[in-house]
Amino acid sequence: MEPMPEDWERAVAVVAHPDDLEYGAASAVARWTRQGKQVAYVLATKGEAGIAGMAPDQVGPLRVEEERRSAAVVGVTEVVFLDHVDGLVEYGLPLRRDLAAAFRRLRPEVVITMSFDLTWGEEGPVNHADHRATGLAVLDACRDAANEWVFADAGPAWSGIKAAYVSSTTAPTHFVDVTDTIDAGVASLREHRAYIEGLGREFDPDEFLRNMAGYVGLGAGCEYAVAFHRYPMG
Ligand SMILES: [Zn+2]
Repeated sequence: MEPMPEDWERAVAVVAHPDDLEYGAASAVARWTRQGKQVAYVLATKGEAGIAGMAPDQVGPLRVEEERRSAAVVGVTEVVFLDHVDGLVEYGLPLRRDLAAAFRRLRPEVVITMSFDLTWGEEGPVNHADHRATGLAVLDACRDAANEWVFADAGPAWSGIKAAYVSSTTAPTHFVDVTDTIDAGVASLREHRAYIEGLGREFDPDEFLRNMAGYVGLGAGCEYAVAFHRYPMG
């Protein structure tokens, strides 16, 4: 793994659900915003199907608020919800169109998303269908955004995306040293109070994130790190 280049000013991080970014990537986001970079979040859904025993119309607004607070903890004020249906996100043109429109408006140089692999690790559980649909659509929408003839009514083309970085993959190529910002990452995950309570089991965000980032750090040569697989664009 190499250190991820930081020669950019604007990133957009796209995931399926509130809390997806907080399971690791938010510590890296905190580092970038402290450097003065702009990071915006785009969420495919409001996570309304994410809490057992609580109805979606109650959960959606709650999780939107939790995500906005999580984002604020790591210096992100722009949080966009595309309002696709939680649990039923489809890879397809409507999602690619919404993402291309967001990229054209936000004009990122770097796009962050999460794993769209079929499984977590080689023999791990199946990755959520929403994550698979969203991650793949994000990569395709980077190209769509740059083509003025694709989704021509979704804003002026933006061809400035240099690379997409995918977190939580089995084959990382780059890392971000988050030793100085893991505290913010933990605080960001703690903002998902209703979600964490809804898990119905003991869950310690501090222990969870430090274990994961500590393990990546061993390979990266620093105390705590977040890993990404880089897909060059253009
Ligand atoms: Zn998720």
